[in-house]
Amino acid sequence: MFVDGTSDVLPCEMRVLRFARLVCACLLCVFAVLAPAICSAKADTSTVPAHVTEIAPGVFVHTGAHELFTPENAGDISNTGFIIGNEAVAVVDTGGSRAVGLALKAAIRARTSLPIKYVINTHMHPDHVFGNAAFVSDNPEFIGHYKLAHALAARKDQYLQANKPLLGDAFEGVEIIPPARSIEGVAILDLGNRKLRVEAHSTAHTDNDLTVTDEQTATMFMGDLLFSGHVPVVDGSIKGWLALMDRLAAEKISRVVPGHGPPEMPWPDALLAQKRYLDELVTQIRDYIERGVPLSQAAREIGVDEKQAWVLFDDFNARNVSAAFAELEWE
Ligand SMILES: [Zn+2]
Repeated sequence: MFVDGTSDVLPCEMRVLRFARLVCACLLCVFAVLAPAICSAKADTSTVPAHVTEIAPGVFVHTGAHELFTPENAGDISNTGFIIGNEAVAVVDTGGSRAVGLALKAAIRARTSLPIKYVINTHMHPDHVFGNAAFVSDNPEFIGHYKLAHALAARKDQYLQANKPLLGDAFEGVEIIPPARSIEGVAILDLGNRKLRVEAHSTAHTDNDLTVTDEQTATMFMGDLLFSGHVPVVDGSIKGWLALMDRLAAEKISRVVPGHGPPEMPWPDALLAQKRYLDELVTQIRDYIERGVPLSQAAREIGVDEKQAWVLFDDFNARNVSAAFAELEWE
């Protein structure tokens, strides 16, 4: 084949020279393509893997601290996990920073080299989605509730601005990555002889809550539809949440993973404390509304009997009362 009009009559030395140049050019191209991958692979392997618990065969959970974002915890304040099938891995939530996501990925890579096919976000809150950026280089399908993309777009600026000073250096590399695939109703994901049932719910903790159930082990990741230890946070509908809990309680599952709390909890007893707290808020708020007590007083007084039962109570209870008050006022 002719490279140009003269290549068939080149002297031997020139052909060798031209061949050597071609080889050099090819090597440079290969290096240019591979170098970033090699560098990022190095960066990944230098990350300390997150501590994870295998709560059922092939189902791993990392638990975050019951804290607000600080530079010290680097956003590691919520539960994340992954499920390994025969052909692929699914990640459920990515933590509150790219660093937390990278540590989770390192924990995955310590156990399998299978591709990370899905990254599922259970809902919009920064402590569950800020780690998404750590997985972009794996080219997974990002999956969320059909209302997640809109919710993230609406809050993106606020989430980034408000959390940058809280995370400090750990804010580095944080990106809002919306789902490429939106779930309405139920979808089944296949990890290779292992099916995950992903279900989008009506408004409860937020308006974009999703559960992920590993059918093989009857393990359900609940995201923040379930809090344990950490006081529940109402950012959707308190009535919707209580109704959803009643419906989910009938599901035949073996164990659940809360969005905040231990790696696994028994079902349906896992719901009891959260239901008690939310029921208490609803009962008291209805009473306060009926008596015409103003919100400012209600926010100070309602729920205080629950204070000892929960971590971060003072950070969220008054806000919960305000949100629920606004909802129940219009009954
Ligand atoms: Zn949440």
